[in-house]
Amino acid sequence: MGWPAPMVARFHKLFFWTPTVSYTDIAEKLSKEFGIPVTKNACVGYANRNGMKRQGRALDRPRARKGRPAKPRLAGPQKVPHTTPLLDLAFGDCRWTDSNAHPFLFCGMPQIPSCSYCLEHARRSYPAMARSA
Ligand SMILES: [Zn+2]
Repeated sequence: MGWPAPMVARFHKLFFWTPTVSYTDIAEKLSKEFGIPVTKNACVGYANRNGMKRQGRALDRPRARKGRPAKPRLAGPQKVPHTTPLLDLAFGDCRWTDSNAHPFLFCGMPQIPSCSYCLEHARRSYPAMARSA
């Protein structure tokens, strides 16, 4: 059973116009607005089946963890979403981008010396250098 046309239109609007809204939030909004239970996985599946790709990165909520609290991580590169637009990049900011279309968003973490990338992206870009380090 497909989604009603108004719900499809609303999904497209939420998906493309608000790229930081998570699939979970989209599912909740659609469920409330249309009175039809919609799951996050239904939204992900719909987007995948229709070849819909998001620019930027959706900020899905972290899952509640059971059991022991996570150990604090030792110092190392932090995973951060690529959220820095080109015009906001400063001298010394990492130039790595995963964007293939407008708006191009860059890593923006501090570069390592004599490299255009931060440590994590230098490792991804130059695997031989990462192996020898
Ligand atoms: Zn980087």
